[in-house]
Amino acid sequence: MHYISTRGRAARLDFESVLMAGLARDGGLYVPEFWPQIEAETIRALAGQSYVDAASRIMTPLAGDGVAGGKLSDMVSEAYSGFSHQAVVPLLQLDSNLWLLELFHGPTLAFKDLAMQLLGLMMDRALQASGARATILAATSGDTGAAAVEAFKNREAIDLFVLFPEGRISEIQRRQMTTSSAGNVHAVSVQGTFDDCQSIMKTLFADLEFRDRIGLSAVNSVNWARIMAQTVYYFTAAASLGGPDRAVSFSVPTGNFGDIFAGYAAMQMGLPVERLVIATNTNDILARTLETGRYEPRSVVPTTSPSMDIQVSSNFERLIFEASGRSADRVQSLMGEFSENGAFALSDGELSAIRAAFSAHRACEDEVNETMRRVYSRTGYLADPHTAVGIAAAEREIGKTNAPMVVLATAHPAKFPGAVQDAAGRTADVPKRLKAILAGNENHVTAEADVSAIRALIDERGRFSGSKVQV
Ligand SMILES: *Cc1c(COP(=O)(O)O)cnc(C)c1O
Repeated sequence: MHYISTRGRAARLDFESVLMAGLARDGGLYVPEFWPQIEAETIRALAGQSYVDAASRIMTPLAGDGVAGGKLSDMVSEAYSGFSHQAVVPLLQLDSNLWLLELFHGPTLAFKDLAMQLLGLMMDRALQASGARATILAATSGDTGAAAVEAFKNREAIDLFVLFPEGRISEIQRRQMTTSSAGNVHAVSVQGTFDDCQSIMKTLFADLEFRDRIGLSAVNSVNWARIMAQTVYYFTAAASLGGPDRAVSFSVPTGNFGDIFAGYAAMQMGLPVERLVIATNTNDILARTLETGRYEPRSVVPTTSPSMDIQVSSNFERLIFEASGRSADRVQSLMGEFSENGAFALSDGELSAIRAAFSAHRACEDEVNETMRRVYSRTGYLADPHTAVGIAAAEREIGKTNAPMVVLATAHPAKFPGAVQDAAGRTADVPKRLKAILAGNENHVTAEADVSAIRALIDERGRFSGSKVQV
């Protein structure tokens, strides 16, 4: 499979190069040149298969045999061996037609481990095989940075820098990034906001000389390999509930639009999906866009589901590419308009293409709290606030068809003890792996929210100045 940029001005690349590049050089995001089709017979056969076998089967058309130095099936097996549940992503029933897909049994207790554990292995193997080295830079509001630390710690060919906003992430999230003793992990507390971290990162990626000199790569959900790994659980959950002979709906707690775009990708690959429900918290840019066709960020409001406190959803660009009939010119023009005016409007055709697959619902803070309380008192299930946003959105949609509704449970309730305690009157038991992280010594550097300060810090601490990973 080859990949093309949504903005049409970057080289067409194979899977391994897309994995290493992260972001396309024209500022666009990579998508498969065409959507490979998974036969109905193959989907049916996923029911009862192990997650590891299913994952290899679904990803092979997208990733081929894997990367130089790593066979896909071996890497998948190794990536999921550290998950604490035998089924990797258990599916459990909450109500007559409502299911929860628990995606939080990996090392950092959020769904990001599912893609990041595999990404860490694939990048490491590819680099080992070529003798190259890479520097990974991640801006994080919490969970991405933690998942990256777990996935990349102690990998010889990789240096990892995570930029997090000082004082603006939870203690658990900070400790997950700062208690690693690995020499290749650099947690950087930036004296600014998450937006500052993200804008520093974008500026450094646009500095092509710096980018090539240190082999800079991105592991947030602009990296196609993350989306690819996340398509798998849409297939396996649907197959467990009677797919492909019955269409299934999914409600997805959404921030950067990565996880739900993976559901859309599964659909394009032949999985019958009834509805994809975009579940947002108070930061509802996507719900407003689906209502009005106008994409216009407002300022970010902090909520109890911080991983969704996002106003600029990077992966929405991939959906615009699809909804415009894969027109890179149209994406260019909308993104140009966005950087000039801070907003853009979709055409009627694009909007109806999006509405044909997606619904969107927002849950305000009271509703999230009430959902956690009600679910706990009725069923004894403790949902984390992100999952509760997904449940609240699902409940708005569920009567509309007979399709089973699967809510993606994206984080373990022990990661958000304050919000869970407020709503349910108790906290979740803390898993052993989290206890160890919470007890460790913290280790990080502090930097000003300034591009040259961060560039100098990477040059000083990174081992790979003068290395080469050029795409
Ligand atoms: C990252 C995250 C989300 C949002 O996922 P996107 O792919 O950014 O839409 C939702 N819930 C949790 C717990 C997360 O960590």
